[in-house]
Amino acid sequence: MQKSKFFIFDCSNAANCCDKKEYNEANVREKTSIIIHNLFCKKCRDYSAKNSKLTQLIKKARIKGCTSEEKRNIKERLKQEISKQKSSSN
Ligand SMILES: [Zn+2]
Repeated sequence: MQKSKFFIFDCSNAANCCDKKEYNEANVREKTSIIIHNLFCKKCRDYSAKNSKLTQLIKKARIKGCTSEEKRNIKERLKQEISKQKSSSN
């Protein structure tokens, strides 16, 4: 984790902001930081890509009448899947 400090904030922070961005809760500074971080960090770039895909899925699910709680549950589950993939690729 130490070398990630070089990029504005560390990877866990980037993931956090990335989630906020998907929910449109991130401010301009956070959004910019994610973009810059992702330029240098492949891990988070992948995470962002997966997150965007996930958001698309959620949007589709919402059309079918998914509640925001269900939406968060789906997201949590996929997050676990992603972190499993992350740890296995290390
Ligand atoms: Zn990162």
